[in-house]
Amino acid sequence: LPNEASLQSARYHNSFLLDPDEALETAREYSAEKGLPPQSVSPEVGKLLHLLVRSVGAKRVLEIGTLGGYSAIWMGRALPEDGEVITCERNEHHAQVARENIAKAGLEKVVTIMLGSALENLAKLQPGDEPFDFVFIDADKENNLNYLLEAKRLARKGAAIVVDNTVQEGRIADLSIANPRYEGVRKLLAHIKDDPELSATTIATVGDRHWDGFTYILKL
Ligand code: SAM
Repeated sequence: LPNEASLQSARYHNSFLLDPDEALETAREYSAEKGLPPQSVSPEVGKLLHLLVRSVGAKRVLEIGTLGGYSAIWMGRALPEDGEVITCERNEHHAQVARENIAKAGLEKVVTIMLGSALENLAKLQPGDEPFDFVFIDADKENNLNYLLEAKRLARKGAAIVVDNTVQEGRIADLSIANPRYEGVRKLLAHIKDDPELSATTIATVGDRHWDGFTYILKL
């Protein structure tokens, strides 16, 4: 996994469901050209984020982990004119490439990059500011629980929170593997189990690189 059949299947479905989009394709290509790791979401997951943002009628979106801005562009495209994506990135080179990709997509007024440690930057945001309607967590997995708690603090009731890479080819569920990145996902799951204000499910996916998945969380 994935095999040629799963890639072919994704391409087949995408050919019906995803409109060709020059800015998004350029963002992926330019990010690769600039040496960024191939860690952005797949086109179909990008489209899912876009549809989810629209489904919850989101105006304010928070992203943790910008990379080259690929997922930020998908979500930015889903917002009304006065909408906003705030996206956190600590790597200056990634942020610079993202800025260029976001500008090429015409979203420089919609997407704001907060450069620096996400936890430090999130601590500066107040719940009294306009709350977030949608949060996408996709950065250092060790901090997943910290990010979830910050997302919960800063999001409105009914907000959706998506955490990426929560399956990792089944390694999260293999407790014989003690890796801080996997522990970060396990802690997240354990917290959700005991938090009456959150309800969630994990969906496994066959991506363009490997078998993984994401966890979809609703703030009740
Ligand atoms: N969401 C992006 C997309 O789909 O296009 C991919 C994000 S990539 C998986 C993770 C990003 O998080 C990297 O660019 C990395 O530099 C950034 N990152 C990792 N730890 C961070 C931290 N503590 N604070 C802010 N950004 C961080």
